[in-house]
Amino acid sequence: MKVTCPHCKRRIKLKRGEDYICKCNNKINYMHFFKKKVNYLVYLLDANIFIYSDKKKDMRNLSCKKVLKIKSSKIKIGTTDVILDEIKENENINIPDTLKIYKIGKISEYIKSLKTNYLKQPSKADLSLLQAAINHPEVKGIITYDKDFGRIAAKGIIQKKSSSGFWLGTASDFLRKYKIKVDVR
Ligand SMILES: [Zn+2]
Repeated sequence: MKVTCPHCKRRIKLKRGEDYICKCNNKINYMHFFKKKVNYLVYLLDANIFIYSDKKKDMRNLSCKKVLKIKSSKIKIGTTDVILDEIKENENINIPDTLKIYKIGKISEYIKSLKTNYLKQPSKADLSLLQAAINHPEVKGIITYDKDFGRIAAKGIIQKKSSSGFWLGTASDFLRKYKIKVDVR
């Protein structure tokens, strides 16, 4: 996130969750700028949310469809280009216009180090979600049914990098959290 130092007007690149001392000695508080700049939060959807949204007989189907229909100025849903690429062969999956798509270029060394230290068999899609969460301060959580991935992502990794808590849960956990009611046929 790029901000302007209120004292000397230098442009400064802040890393997620990290305060910074400007060259003019002014202390730049990350959360102060974050709250001013981003007035909505993004929850990333894992591939399984899209996949279950097309499985009518699955008990997770309705919750996943509801999550895909969320329209709110404060809460947005998103995913990565890597995930979309993974699910593109299923033409029945409905990709809503409201979805924010994060383009993940290279996976950073930091994420790669997690791969060897924390994650046993992470997919490219898993890594892309972690990368998006770390790169973008507005990303507040991940909606997924992958418990293994969830456990790891929630507890150690992203928490350390962000100053506020990172949320992780299933589509129905998410709807309960925000008490969202969406009409779905
Ligand atoms: Zn300054």
